Amino acid sequence: MSRFASQRISQVPPYLFAELDKKEAALRAAGRDVISLGIGDPDRPTPDFIRDRMHAAIDDPSNHRYPAYAGSTAFRQAVADYYQRRYGVTLDPQREVMALIGSKEGIGHLAWALVDPGDVVLVPDPGYPVYRIATLFAGGQPYDLPLLPRNAFLPDLDAIPNDVLERAKLLYLNYPNNPTAAVCDVAFYERVVDLARRYNIAVAADLAYGEITFGGYEAPSILQVPGAKEIAVEFGSLSKPFNMTGWRIGYVVGNAEIIAALGIIKTNLDSGQFTAVQQAAITALRTPDEAVAQAQALYAQRQQTMLEALRQLGLEVSPPKGSFYLWLPTPPGYTSAAFADAVLQQTAVVVSPGSAFGPSGEGFFRISLTVDTSRLQEAARRLAQDLQVRWR
Ligand SMILES: *Cc1c(COP(=O)(O)O)cnc(C)c1O
Repeated sequence: MSRFASQRISQVPPYLFAELDKKEAALRAAGRDVISLGIGDPDRPTPDFIRDRMHAAIDDPSNHRYPAYAGSTAFRQAVADYYQRRYGVTLDPQREVMALIGSKEGIGHLAWALVDPGDVVLVPDPGYPVYRIATLFAGGQPYDLPLLPRNAFLPDLDAIPNDVLERAKLLYLNYPNNPTAAVCDVAFYERVVDLARRYNIAVAADLAYGEITFGGYEAPSILQVPGAKEIAVEFGSLSKPFNMTGWRIGYVVGNAEIIAALGIIKTNLDSGQFTAVQQAAITALRTPDEAVAQAQALYAQRQQTMLEALRQLGLEVSPPKGSFYLWLPTPPGYTSAAFADAVLQQTAVVVSPGSAFGPSGEGFFRISLTVDTSRLQEAARRLAQDLQVRWR
């Protein structure tokens, strides 16, 4: 690490995909046609009706000045209306909704707003890496909550020691889940809210995949639980349902005190998201149904394509109910890293080793269904025909 870097930076664990990235680059340099199923970034363009709104919003000079810190009143009202319609949850747009520059921004800054040095933060393992890293940046101690198949990839709340709960300041949760594709029901959130209220723990529910669901399953909001607003906030994002990862627009809703604390961090570090982007996002949130239905149909069809190829290799998995990932066991005799490497060498397909998402991800790999359908079909064909590995 650089002689200029702070301890905060130096303690960041080495980027776990680095080795795989190097090998992928070498294969590309050697002329191989590499297909990456590694990163979860939708391949389809942002829908026309959202782009059209953006074109108009750019031409309005009143949008060219600094935006409102917490997001425009209209954006916050649109988020509140969306929550009322989608979840039956009533939010005060002034105090209980704030715009974010992508939800990752708020998820990360939240640790700065709530966590003191030495505080424990409960993080899912495997999980979205931001929860752990943001905790470390703030001087907190991440405490892993293993997500295991025998618990349907939900954390075992009863297994958290009492002294950990007493020192815990914050709990991150994420359903539909990245990377395991697991989902939860309201009963799970009821148990979370009960625990968090008893121990005074703030809860941050990450609902980035709230609209990426299948087979009639609808993802709940933690705010549907009575009393949740006393301790919980929820993060939402336009990125995944509307193919808007590049636009950087998300929001946080729920407990007003927590949102105010996060707002203090944000007003001192950033100046909000471009009002034109917020206006395009309002259009998406007010008429989401067609775009969401299209995304759901697309990923459901891709799930089938990939699961059929894996079935031919002896890996029988039922389609997940949420997210655009497949979380799959590695074949007998392979670690996650060794398997990802074998897939790359034998098929020039990139999959993510589960161990990159935390120690309990060992023994799994993740496939992201966010490449063009014809490329996904080609990747599935290569796995079925070229991979010299069998599950049974
Ligand atoms: C993609 C993703 C997000 C959303 O990130 P944005 O910053 O809103 O683009 C948040 N949480 C998880 C778990 C994700 O996978």
